[in-house]
Amino acid sequence: MQLVEATKEKTKIYGSLRGKSAVVTGSTSGIGLGIAQALAEAGANVMFNGFSAPSDFDDLRKELQVSRKIKTAFSNADMSKEEEIAGMIDEARAAFGQVDILVNNAGIQHVEAIETFPISKWNAIIAVDLSAAFHTIRAVVPEMKQRGWGRIINIASAHALVASPFKSAYVAAKHGVLGLTKTVALEVAEYGITANAICPGYVLTPLVEKQIPETARARMLTEEQVVHDVLLHAQPTRRFVTTEELGEFAVFLCQDGAKSITGAALPVEGGWTAQ
Ligand code: NAD
Repeated sequence: MQLVEATKEKTKIYGSLRGKSAVVTGSTSGIGLGIAQALAEAGANVMFNGFSAPSDFDDLRKELQVSRKIKTAFSNADMSKEEEIAGMIDEARAAFGQVDILVNNAGIQHVEAIETFPISKWNAIIAVDLSAAFHTIRAVVPEMKQRGWGRIINIASAHALVASPFKSAYVAAKHGVLGLTKTVALEVAEYGITANAICPGYVLTPLVEKQIPETARARMLTEEQVVHDVLLHAQPTRRFVTTEELGEFAVFLCQDGAKSITGAALPVEGGWTAQ
């Protein structure tokens, strides 16, 4: 598998993450899955989380456990529910003994004009895309401080830096995640912990596939026009960012060489916000 080979090569260049344990929220699909796999390939124990049947992950977990000699765990915790979030962190500690790397990735989206934007969608997006990161960070910072090492990686978005119409809740949540990231980074800077926000551009995941028809309706365009004139038009590279690129970047942020990178908004968006 290409990802496996690429990551093995990378761990030769960077240090291994063996002995570290990671929780990656929303890692049953898309970007979270790519990051969880890359961390596992780099040697970290990984807790997967998301809305899939745990048995769907049996094969992948078994393969990683055997080939990388790591531990894995799976949690169905709903990131919109604070008591389930606390339970997931407790489960990760029970499985691995500690949480050293936290990747807040779970996210949802809804595209609609502000005047008809459903209140329930606003509340759900703020809960999953913003508040969940507050709850997970709050739960893991004490042990990271105690050990003097930690990596908090929040998957924000180019929409943490710039807005697009019809994405009020998402853009508000992602700008909020960046503010949370900066604040936490300042609070933990002297404890060997970094907190950063990766700001991806468009990645062709189920989250984006779902918004193509929604955006077509909101902007009165065809779906092809949405892909070429809206999504890829935003990115000077004119191609989607990949989950493999984001996985490699997350592994880099966990290395010693990245220990002075903190409180940063790190765009991985094909030049979108340079314009
Ligand atoms: P995706 O839909 O492929 O995956 C989302 C993941 O989150 C899934 O594992 C899903 O089960 C999980 N999830 C959703 N709601 C949850 C909840 N309440 N509790 C627990 N898990 C939940 O999406 P993706 O594109 O991979 O997005 C991942 C993150 O990256 C999101 O935060 C998204 O905002 C961000 N992002 C995506 C893009 C993109 O273009 N795809 C760009 C920038 C940022």
